[in-house]
Amino acid sequence: MGTQTGAGRFAPSPSGPLHLGNARTAILAWLFARASGRRFLLRVEDLDPQRSRADAAAQQLAELKQLGLDWDGPVVWQSRRGGRYRDAVDMLRREGLVYECFCTRREIQEASSAPHGAPGAYPGTCRNLSDIDRERLCRIRRPALRLRVPPEERRGEITDLRFGQVCGEVDDVVLRRRDGVPSYNLAVVVDDLAQGIDQVVRGDDLLSSAPRQAFLARCLGGLPPVYAHVPLVVRPDGTRLAKRDGDASLPELAAAGWDAARVRAIILDSLGLPDLPLHRVVERFDPAAVPRESWCPALPERT
Ligand code: GLU
Repeated sequence: MGTQTGAGRFAPSPSGPLHLGNARTAILAWLFARASGRRFLLRVEDLDPQRSRADAAAQQLAELKQLGLDWDGPVVWQSRRGGRYRDAVDMLRREGLVYECFCTRREIQEASSAPHGAPGAYPGTCRNLSDIDRERLCRIRRPALRLRVPPEERRGEITDLRFGQVCGEVDDVVLRRRDGVPSYNLAVVVDDLAQGIDQVVRGDDLLSSAPRQAFLARCLGGLPPVYAHVPLVVRPDGTRLAKRDGDASLPELAAAGWDAARVRAIILDSLGLPDLPLHRVVERFDPAAVPRESWCPALPERT
C-alpha cells in the first residue's frame, strides 16, 4: 500500500436506486483508492432539481454501506455548494473564458446534424455575437453560459489507467444551464479540485467527457486527476443498465434474492477477486487485472 495523500471518490446522481453497474463502479472506485493509500470520498451529485430525489440519495448511501463501503469525512452535497460554482464561473469570466449562449437544444441539434457537424457538438453559433445581437437576444431568452475554448486547445489528452493516453475533443462546454443550474461538467471539476481528488474511477460512458473536464481543471488553476474509466454492466443485448428505468436496481435484485452480500460476492467474482470483507480484498487488488470488457451477468428474471 502506498502513502499517497490524494483521494478517490464515488459521485452518484440520486435519480433512483443504484443498479448493479453503479455498485460495481463504486466497489472499484473504493478498491482503486484504498489500494493506493488514498482517501475515499463520497459526493452526491444532486444539482439537477428535476432528476434528483432526496429519498434516492439517502437510499444510495444506505446501499453503499450495505455493500461494505466506507468513506472519509462527511458526504458532500452539490446542491449546497452553489457559491463555489458561482465563484468558478466568475474566475473564468475574468479570464475571458465565458460567453452567453442563447441557442435552444433544438437549434443545436439541427445545426449539429448538418453534414459537417459532429453529432451533438455545439456548432459555436453564439461564440462571436456582436454586442447588439447579444443585448437583443438577452431580452428574449435567458442565456446559458459556455466555456470559450481557444482553437489550439480543442483537442486534449488525459491519462487513463485502462485506456492509456486518450486524446479527445474539448468543446465549448456549458458551465451554467439556461435555468441557472450549474452544469455537471463544471460542478464535477470544481468539486474534484476542491476535494483534492486526484484519482477518478467511473463508468467508461464518461470517457469522452474527460478531456474537456481536464481542460476546465487547468483553466481553474488545478491539475486534472488520473482517470480509470471502468467497464459498464450490460444486458445480453448489449444495452447498458439505466438507473432511471430501475434496471437491475439493488432493491429489485434484493427482491429476487440477491441481498447486498450476494451482490458484492458476484461483483467481486466478476473482478476475479475473492468473497472477503473489502478491507481484505484490497490487499489482493491489482488495478491492471481489472477486466477490460463490459460485464454481462446472468441477472435474475425481472419481477
Ligand atoms: N454523477 C455521475 C453519475 O452518476 C458520475 C460523475 C462522475 O463520476 O464524474 O453517472
